[in-house]
Amino acid sequence: MNHGLLPGKVVLITGASSGIGAAAAKVFAQEGATVVLAARREERLAELVDVLRDKGAEASYIVSDVSVAENAARAVDFTVSTYGRLDAAFNNAGIGGDRTPLHLMSDDVYDTIMDANVRGLWNCLRYEIAAMLENGAGSIVNNSSVGGLVAIPTAAPYVASKHAVVGFTRAAADEYAKQGIRVNAVAPGTTRSEITADWFGRNPGLEDMVNSMTPQGRTAEPEEIAAAAAWLLSDRCPFLTGTVLPVDGGFVNQ
Ligand code: NDP
Repeated sequence: MNHGLLPGKVVLITGASSGIGAAAAKVFAQEGATVVLAARREERLAELVDVLRDKGAEASYIVSDVSVAENAARAVDFTVSTYGRLDAAFNNAGIGGDRTPLHLMSDDVYDTIMDANVRGLWNCLRYEIAAMLENGAGSIVNNSSVGGLVAIPTAAPYVASKHAVVGFTRAAADEYAKQGIRVNAVAPGTTRSEITADWFGRNPGLEDMVNSMTPQGRTAEPEEIAAAAAWLLSDRCPFLTGTVLPVDGGFVNQ
């Protein structure tokens, strides 16, 4: 008998070297998945794969900068050549970037954020969908943000990039629904990770301010986002596609 939400599923996780992606690697493995971890920092990936294998999970990693198309292709190819297919993908890689009023933002900040958050997703989606079409089925979850649904002050390029994640989610869900591929997104609220450690470290009082604007009054643990992604990726919700699920302590519902 298969246990867990993702029994035997081969799942690629981008941005798996820290934060939500690293938590997803643990949660998905606990739910029975075979996980392939992708990111740029090899040491982090190798350490996490060791931890997962020690717990009996099937896990591998591939160093990949998703903003480079060949790297995204390599991550998908590696998954298929190692495990025979790609059942699911959590497109989580992303950066926060500087928090600055829009009129003071540099081109460099814009380019860096768009390359990681939008081009990175675009690159991954193309190769993942091609592999899933070969397989005749698949499930994808993209990591947007509450910033993909509403504005966040002093983060205009980030907000625009996360709205683009929502756009790609809707477009891909619509285009591949009849071919057995579901595409959804999570829209996390403030979550403990390197992005928020950086933002909160450079902006004293920001965490308290964000928490005070969140009905549950707190920051999420990365495992809470990973759990929602695991369910969306699983076969428990076969009629669910094109949706963007806020996982935000009630933030966008106010
Ligand atoms: P972290 O900084 O802890 O994790 C980001 C991950 O993305 C790292 O593993 C990083 O790995 C990877 N990454 C960044 N750029 C690239 C790239 N070009 N190619 C491959 N991997 C990359 O932050 P989070 O866990 O918070 O971020 C994960 C996702 O969650 C992001 O998309 C973020 O926008 C989203 N999110 C986070 C929220 C939060 O409050 N924390 C709220 C809403 C959304 P490496 O540096 O090794 O490449």
